Amino acid sequence: MSERPILVLDEGTTSTRAMLYAPDGRRLGMAQADLGQYYPRPGWVEHDATEIWEKTLACARDMVALAGGADQVAAIGITNQRETVVAWDRRTGEPLAPAIVWQDRRTAGHCAALREAGEEEAVQRRTGLVLDPYFSATKMRWLLDHAPAVAEAGARLAFGTIESWLMWKLTGGQHVSDASNASRTQLMALDGTDWDIGLCDLFGVPPQALPEIVDNIGAFGATQAEWFGQPIAIRGLMGDQQAATIGQACLTPGDAKATLGTGAFVLAYMGGAVPVSRHRLLGTLLCRLPGETSYALEGSLFVAGSLVQWMRDELRLIATAEESEALARSVPDSGGVAMLPALAGLGAPHWRADAKGTIHGLTLGTKRAHIVRAALESLSHQLHDLAGAFAADGMPWRTLCIDGGMSANDWIAQDLADILDLPVDRPADVETTARGAAMLAAVGAGLFPSLAAAAAAMRAERRCFTPALPDDARNERLRRWHALLACA
Ligand code: ADP
Repeated sequence: MSERPILVLDEGTTSTRAMLYAPDGRRLGMAQADLGQYYPRPGWVEHDATEIWEKTLACARDMVALAGGADQVAAIGITNQRETVVAWDRRTGEPLAPAIVWQDRRTAGHCAALREAGEEEAVQRRTGLVLDPYFSATKMRWLLDHAPAVAEAGARLAFGTIESWLMWKLTGGQHVSDASNASRTQLMALDGTDWDIGLCDLFGVPPQALPEIVDNIGAFGATQAEWFGQPIAIRGLMGDQQAATIGQACLTPGDAKATLGTGAFVLAYMGGAVPVSRHRLLGTLLCRLPGETSYALEGSLFVAGSLVQWMRDELRLIATAEESEALARSVPDSGGVAMLPALAGLGAPHWRADAKGTIHGLTLGTKRAHIVRAALESLSHQLHDLAGAFAADGMPWRTLCIDGGMSANDWIAQDLADILDLPVDRPADVETTARGAAMLAAVGAGLFPSLAAAAAAMRAERRCFTPALPDDARNERLRRWHALLACA
């Protein structure tokens, strides 16, 4: 077996990272660069696609140097923030407008109009997704209507999610999207293999601007020699939440993981069954391999770590995200403070694009620690509602595997176990998204015969948090949460 490492490019929302994984799952190195977040108007969130590419390339070059050169890297796996839309010019390879990020709410009006026109049920049945600005289709239409360079590009226009953008740049013009990312655009039917022309018509997106949809593992071409000295084969592509599910080895029906990053995303493995939610969850394509497609049921919360970031950068209640843990522990409870973290509307299972955040229960006795604790508690409350929706859809969680930047916080991990009344399992290395992409690329490079074999060899060590909160305390927390939710 080749011992050459896998290079993972993990293009997240707040940062881009490159990592090297040995075939036995050890992480050999990581380079990271923060990404600018641009908020030109309330509810708008943009990224600079050129910055994403340049920082991805710089981080990747660091890791290729660490490996000892391009010929020492077995393959590349790419994983990315999903739904975010880039529009570029096929002739120049340059972006035509700022990238519209998944969190962006500017198309809420378009979604509401489609809902009023009675389109939601059919769209949800075909795509597994509700009508919400979260998904790519309405963002693409917005760019065609409002960004002059996009409107005028005609046949030169290329649309893509972030993995498509990186693939175009790395390979020098290959226009592909993997099936997991494509399933989040709202332009592909869950049981389809290509773009759905009826959905492209409904949302007003020209199919000729879209990439070719490919499997999650395959020979997707190689990087241009100019980037790393020699070409490196790209063998795995997958959206970040699906990759985290693979990275957690959630490969048996009912296995569930929650990635606690900027937002929080729970996916439960469904195998080959196309998910149909009756409780406002999403159906998502998990992984497409030749002749075999697996699915997941998904619940997405738009605000998780971004609430901690907001308390740090805007309210200046904390100096670092890590400080939130010590502050939450410094008080016995939230002192009657409760928070509705609807800073970007409410996601599943409520889907209230218009909801705004609330901090309730303030008195002169309220300390900074109470507010911070209430903020962290609100994550468990939101996940509790999601757990109820998954159970009602026939997919109760047995254990919740957590990962992502926020899961490093032990207080949060314990609070989740307490409020969900479930074991919460955390790998020693919380970068599960990248690990999943490494597993895909390792299978693609022929290092393992299957994802199950890669997961068995590359899965990280784990720590389990078990529930310890008395029922009455849990019930009181949830009673106050639901009272707050009722006022939203
Ligand atoms: P993404 O991949 O979405 O960019 P990450 O998985 O890197 O996000 O997680 C970063 C988020 O986690 C940030 O929003 C940050 O505020 C939050 N975070 C990081 N460490 C902690 C911590 N110890 N406690 C609470 N939140 C944290």
